[in-house]
Amino acid sequence: MTAFPHLLQPLDLGCLTLPNRLLMGSMHTRLETLAQPARRLARFYAERAKGGVGLIVTGGFAPSAEGRLEPDGPLFNHSSQIAEHRPVTQAVHAHGARIALQILHAGRYAKVAGAIGPSNIASPINPNAPRRMTEADILGCIEAYAVTAALAREAGYDGVEIMGSEGYLINEFTAPRCNDRSDAWGGTLENRLRFAIEVMARVRQRTGSDFLVIFRVSSIDLVEGGLTREEIAALARAVEAAGANIINQGVGWHEARVPTIGLRVPRAAWSFAARHLKAAVKIPVVASNRINTPELAEAILARGDADLISMARPLLADPEFANKVRQGRRDSINVCIACNQACLDLIFSERAATCLVNPKAGRELDFDRPPPAAICRIAVIGAGPGGLACAVTAAERGHDVTLFEAEAEIGGQLNLARQVPGKEEFDETLRYYRTRIAELGIDLRLNSRPDAALLARLDFAEIVIATGVRPRLPDIPGIAHSKCVSYIELLTGAKVAGQRVAIVGAGGIGFDIAEYLSAPPHEAASAHRHFLAEWGIDTSISGRGGLNAPSGASSSRDILMLQRTPGRMGRKLGLSTGWALRLALAKRQVAQLSGVEYVGIDDAGLHVNVDGKARVLAVDTIVICAGQEPVRELYGDLSAAGRRAHLIGGAERAAELDAMRAIEQGTKLAFAFGV
Ligand code: NAP
Ligand code: SF4
Repeated sequence: MTAFPHLLQPLDLGCLTLPNRLLMGSMHTRLETLAQPARRLARFYAERAKGGVGLIVTGGFAPSAEGRLEPDGPLFNHSSQIAEHRPVTQAVHAHGARIALQILHAGRYAKVAGAIGPSNIASPINPNAPRRMTEADILGCIEAYAVTAALAREAGYDGVEIMGSEGYLINEFTAPRCNDRSDAWGGTLENRLRFAIEVMARVRQRTGSDFLVIFRVSSIDLVEGGLTREEIAALARAVEAAGANIINQGVGWHEARVPTIGLRVPRAAWSFAARHLKAAVKIPVVASNRINTPELAEAILARGDADLISMARPLLADPEFANKVRQGRRDSINVCIACNQACLDLIFSERAATCLVNPKAGRELDFDRPPPAAICRIAVIGAGPGGLACAVTAAERGHDVTLFEAEAEIGGQLNLARQVPGKEEFDETLRYYRTRIAELGIDLRLNSRPDAALLARLDFAEIVIATGVRPRLPDIPGIAHSKCVSYIELLTGAKVAGQRVAIVGAGGIGFDIAEYLSAPPHEAASAHRHFLAEWGIDTSISGRGGLNAPSGASSSRDILMLQRTPGRMGRKLGLSTGWALRLALAKRQVAQLSGVEYVGIDDAGLHVNVDGKARVLAVDTIVICAGQEPVRELYGDLSAAGRRAHLIGGAERAAELDAMRAIEQGTKLAFAFGV
C-alpha cells in the first residue's frame, strides 16, 4: 500500500493517459546556448522521463521573433527547425513519457527590438517600451501560435502548453494594467479575454482533437490592475470551452513585488489559488509553485485542490523523483530547497541552469562517464556539503568510502543555515544524505578527528580534506567584550541581550542573521499567515491582482547592519531572491549603515567613524558576521608528511564559501577517482 495513492493514480485525458499525477513544469534552462544543444536537451529530458514523470513541458519557445525573451531566445516558427526537436521528443518517448512544447510570447517582457503588446505601456522590469499592436498584428500573432502548435505536432510532441500567465503577452491582454484598448481587444472583460480565447481556439482547430493542449492561466496576478477571482474564473471557463484539455496554474507576474517561488515563500503557499481555478472548470487543473515533496503533492490532490502537480525545480534536484515515490523510497529523494542559486540565478546571469543539490542537472552529457577502472579506498574528512557530496558520489561509483566528521552529526554549515527562516529546507538535504550514506554502506565515523598519522596507518588511496571554515574574528579593539557573539553562537542557541543589535558584516550571513533576528517565529502555520500578511496577499482575490495592503509589522528589535564598503548592501545576494530579502528587511525597519570604520567596542556600545565623524552606536549585542577563514591544518600536516590530499569546499577557499561550489567540487572530484 503506497503512502501516495492520489499522486500515483493514472489520469485519462481522452487523447492520452498519464501514468501518475506528476507533471514536469516548464522551465527555461539555457541549455540551448551550450555545445550540442539538441543532444544535451534530449538527455536532460530523457533523464526525467526515465525517472518516471508522466508528462514534461519544455521551456518556452516563441512563436515569432519579436516574442522572444531575448535576441537569441528559443524560437519555433518554421519547419526547418523541426529536426532540432525530434531528438528530444524521441528520447522522452523512448522512456514511455509524454512531452508538450510550451509556446511563450513574451509581449512587453521581450528584450528584443520590436517588442509588442496590447498597448505601449512599458513594464517596470524592461526598459524597452512595446509597440501597440495593430489589428493585423493581433491576427498575425494568433496565427503564429497555431503555426507553432502544428509544427510541434509534426516534431513529435504530444501536445503544447499555451503560456497565458506570468505577465506575458496573453496575460497582458487580459489585464487592465496594460490593456488600455477601446477596440474589440480591450475594455470590457469579454474583449480583454478575446485574444486568449482566439489563440486557444485556433491552436485546437489547427492541431485536431487528439492533441493535448494545456493552457496556463494566471491564478493570481499579484500586481495592481490584474484580474479578480471572477475574471480569472471566466477566463478559465472560456479556454476550457475553446478546447483546452488541462488548466495549469501560473502565479504572479514577473514584475510583481511579491516573491512567488523563492525559499521565503512557504511550501504550497499558492494552493488556495489552484483551488479557485478548480472550482471554475471541469477539466483537470494543475497546482504549481513551491510544491517540493510527495507529501505536499499528495495532500493537495487529496483535498481536491487540483488534479495534477507541477514540479520543475524539484525534478532538476532529483530526476528520479516519481520512481522513488512509486518504489516507496521517499527518503532517498534529493528535495529542491528553493534556493534558486544554481537554476534561476544562473539563468538570470546568462548562464545555463543546473542545481545546487544536484550539479549533474543540465550536465548529463558531461557526467556520462564509464565506471571507474579501479575501486579505491577513499577517506573524506568533514561531512559538510562538499564532503557529503564527494563521499556519496564516490560510493555511488562503487568506491569504498570512509567519512569522518568531528561533530556528532553530519551537515557542517548546513546545520547553521537551517536555523534561518526559509532555510529549514536544508533538513531535506541532510535527510537525503543520511539516507544515501546508509543505503550505500559508507563507513560514517562521527565525533572523529583523524590526524595525519592515523590516515597514513589506514592507508587510503585518496584523501579528501573537506574540513570547512571557522568564522573570522575581526581585529576590532574590544572584540572580546561580552556584548559580542559570533553568528555561530547565535545560531546554536546564544540569547540576544537587550533590544538593540548591531550586525558587523553584511555578506550572505549578515543578511541571514538580520532575517533570523527580525522574522517572527516560523512554525509552519504562523509562517504561512505571516507571509500572506507581510506581502499583502488576498486569498479571496476579490480585488484586482489579489493584493491587500501589506501589514506594517516591524521587528521587535532595533537591528542595524554594518559594512565597511560604501554603497548599497547586498549586491551579491541571489538575483532572484535578494530583492525580496532586502524588501522584507526594509519593511521590518532593519537599518543599514555602509562605509563605516570600526573603532572599538566597550560598555557604551560600538564606536565607529562614518564620513569622518565619530559615532557611538549604543547597542546591547554585536553579532560578528565578518566572513570566514579556511580550516586546513590537517592538509598542512599531510603535505608535510609527503601525503597527497585533495582540498575542497571552504577548506580550499573560504572567500565566497558556498554550498553550491562545495557540492559541485565534491561531486566532480568523486568522478576523478580510479579512472
Ligand atoms: P562574505 O559574503 O564574504 O561577507 C563578509 C562580510 O564581512 C562582508 O560584508 C565584509 O564587508 C565583512 N568583513 C570582511 N572582513 C572583515 C573584517 N576584517 N572586519 C569587519 N568586517 C569584515 O561572507 P559571509 O557573509 O560569511 O558569507 C559567506 C558565504 O556564504 C558567502 O560568500 C555566500 O556565498 C554564502 N551565503 C550566501 C547566502 C545567500 O543569501 N545567497 C546566505 C548565506 C551565506 P566589509 O568588508 O565591507 O566590511
Ligand atoms: Fe531547487 Fe536550488 Fe536546485 Fe534550483 S538550485 S532546483 S532552487 S535546489
